[in-house]
Parts: sequence; C-alpha cells; structure tokens
Amino acid sequence: MRVFLASIPLPGTSVVVVGAGDAAAAKARLFDGSGATLRWFAGPEVEPDEAWIARWPTAKDLSGARLVFIAVSDPGKATALAGLARASGAQVNVVDQPGLSDFHTPALIDRGGVVIAIATGGVAPVLARQVRARVEAALPQGLDRLARLAEGLRETVRATLPDFTARRRFWEAAFRGAAPDLAVEGRTAEARREMLRLLNRPDRVQGVVHLVGAGPGDPELLTLKALRALQDADVVIHDRLAPAAILDRARRDARRIYVGKRRGEHSVPQAEIATLMIAEARAGHRVVRLKGGDPFVFGRGGEELEAMRAAGIDVIAVPGITAALGCAAAAGVPLTHRDQAQAVSFVTAETRPGGAGPDWASLAAPNHTLAVYMGVAGAAAVQAGLLEAGRAADTPVAVIENGSRPDQRVVTGQLGGLARLVAHERVVSPALLIVGEVAAWAQPQTMAREAAA
Ligand code: SAH
Repeated sequence: MRVFLASIPLPGTSVVVVGAGDAAAAKARLFDGSGATLRWFAGPEVEPDEAWIARWPTAKDLSGARLVFIAVSDPGKATALAGLARASGAQVNVVDQPGLSDFHTPALIDRGGVVIAIATGGVAPVLARQVRARVEAALPQGLDRLARLAEGLRETVRATLPDFTARRRFWEAAFRGAAPDLAVEGRTAEARREMLRLLNRPDRVQGVVHLVGAGPGDPELLTLKALRALQDADVVIHDRLAPAAILDRARRDARRIYVGKRRGEHSVPQAEIATLMIAEARAGHRVVRLKGGDPFVFGRGGEELEAMRAAGIDVIAVPGITAALGCAAAAGVPLTHRDQAQAVSFVTAETRPGGAGPDWASLAAPNHTLAVYMGVAGAAAVQAGLLEAGRAADTPVAVIENGSRPDQRVVTGQLGGLARLVAHERVVSPALLIVGEVAAWAQPQTMAREAAA
C-alpha cells in the first residue's frame, strides 16, 4: 500500500479554498453543501461576490482550518500560502503540486452518507477517474437513503439483538433482501417495514422482483439500473427477445430460466410465469424478469406487476428502451419532427383473439408517426386499415428488422405497398413498422425493391 485513505468527518470542520480559477471553483463546489464550513479566498484581483472573499487569507483566517486547498498559479505565492496554512495546523493540498502537499485528493464518488474514494498517490489521476466511472456505474444513486435507513434502525436492532453475531447476521440479510432495493428507489417506508419484518423473522429473507426492460437487443442500450439488477440477480427469467449478449451481462452464477416459445411450441402461459416469479422471490431470491424493450410497452409487464402486488412480493420496474425508440435511432428516423410529425403513437397490430383492432381512423391523420409493433403478420391489415381511414398511399414506411442487433435490416417503401414490401423482403420477427412522413429519413441497409402501389 503506497497511500492511506483516511476519512475525515466534515460536520463542524472548517475548510478553506484559496484561488480564483477553475480548480479553486471545483474544490469550492466539492465542499459547498457538505457538512463543513467553507471559506473561499479568491484573491484581491477578483470582483467581490457572495460566494468568495476577494483577498488572500491571513494567518488569522487560517487558524482552526482543518483542510486548506491552494489553487493559485504563482508558485511563490502558493508556497508562501501553504507555509502559512501549515503553520496554523491545517493539512494542505496545493493543486497539481503533489510535492508541496500534505495530502492528495482522491477521485470521489459522493453518495452522501456513503463516499468512495480512489487514489493512486497522484501518479495516475486519469486512471483513478476511469476506475471511478466504473464503480460509479455499479452503485445506485440512492445509496445514501439506504445508509440513513440503517442509521435510523441501529438502536432498534441493537435493543432487539444484543448478541453481536446475531446482529451482524441480521444486517447481512437486511442488505441482501428487498429492503435495499426499495430504499435506493426512495421507497423508504416500505424498506423500513421490510427491515423490521426481517428483524422479527430473521429466518425469512424475502426476495424481490425486478421487472427489467432489456432494450431492443444491443447490450449497450441497457440502462445502468438494468445492468445493476442483472449483476445482482440470483435468477433471470427471460424469453426470446433477450439475446445472449444481454444475458451474458448477468451475474455469472445467476440461474437462467427460459419461458419463451420453443420451436413450434407455445410459450409458457402468463399465469405460470407469474407463479414462478412468486415462488423464486418467496425463496428469498433476487429475481430479474427480463423483458425486451420496455416492460410496460406491449410487454405484459402490467399483468406481472399486478400478480406480484397481489402476492405481496416487492416489485421494482426498471424501464428499457422500447423498440420504437431503438429502431428509430438505428434507422436514423426522428419520430417527431417540427415540420413532419407532431405526434407519435405506439400501436400493436396484434390483438386478442376476438378483440377489437386498432382504431385506424384516429391514427390516419397526416404528420402523425405510427410505430407498429408485432406488425409482420399483420402488415396487410395495417395497410388496409390506414388506407381505408384516409391515410395517403404514398406515405413513407420503414421496416426495421432486428433493430439495434448485429443482423439489423432496414427496408423502406410506401404505405400503399407495405404488405408487398414485407412479403417480398421476407421480413421476419422481431420487426417494427414505422409509418409516417418521417419514415422517409430511414437509411435502408438492404435496399428495398420499389414497392409500387
Ligand atoms: N416490450 C417490447 C415490445 C414487445 S412486443 C418493447 O418495448 O420493445 C414484440 C414486438 O416488439 C416485436 O414484434 C417487434 O415489433 C418489436 N420489437 C422488439 N424488439 C425489436 C427489435 N430489436 N427490432 C425490431 N422490432 C422489435
């Protein structure tokens, strides 16, 4: 170990920043709103301001300061100020001058009550920042809420479990169950209730279900939250729309359960999937129900949410990039446009057996973009419905197959020839149809034959 990272409690501490440039401003920002009292001496050459004091600090100003940051460009001045600060008992950091400094500033991840620091002893600050970016991505934004929840329960836990080992076991279970997920989401009351439940029944760790949107297929289109849920999962329940590239991002020893269609067979019925999710969560597991795109856009996520709530299972929805957004970006189609589209609708061409189809009349106005899901088999019905409702036959269309995946294909044509385009190009599922003036922006990746109406 070449450096030692100590943590300094900030409440009641005095911190001084000296200098007027960007580096001084960055240090001042770091401590502004922290527990410390900040005084910023910007030197005599700047205009007075509420935020700083427009002169250099005197020995008196520095007395009692715990940390002093000096960010002035004149080396003589910096050395003199450092000496003055050190003489008054402060620890000194001269920005970009490790040799003149008593301590260096690590790359910091600030989550309030939880602070993570990465230090390289000043030798590789860029490396430290890269490490920070990785750690940052792995940590929930709301970590502080969890720390505060634990702080609030400390006395109760101590009183209930006087034995140290029992207490440690409780905290280990409490930080693994549903409570931390609820807490970082800001659902503090539920999180607290869950921890208290666990305190009374320490043998009963309750799992949690994350309904996670996996996006359209490109693993880089996962949200940070989705990635974190996958990396924390004990069980991943997935179907056909989740490609291997995304499943591979899950924790190595997470159990994968496939509930999609196998060749020719029907997929597992929805009720059975819900039963499985409930059983896994009751067994104390962290369950990720992985869904293509967004769970709440034609994903039956609503039904699963309802089933979890009815069973008393904690459930957290993690949104994903829905196919319409992923495919539009991949094909270079702006879904709305000041001149060409003032509205966009997500429509499904598939309906329940015997159910009503889309209300084409309300979707047929010009300058209205339609993103049609599950439309390969129903392309003829989409075409007929819209033409009958008065949408122009020369309205541009784009069909994006396997959007955002390595085998992505984009073909274009006009509404009057949509069914023929889909058939002729042998478009396969999953594919998204974009109907509307903006579809003319699509960059075909396999040139479509002219689909004459
Ligand atoms: N919840 C998903 C939609 C599930 S319905 C979402 O938000 O995206 C399945 C339909 O989504 C497919 O029939 C297809 O129309 C569309 N889809 C999903 N992924 C796609 C992809 N990568 N490329 C094109 N269409 C896709």
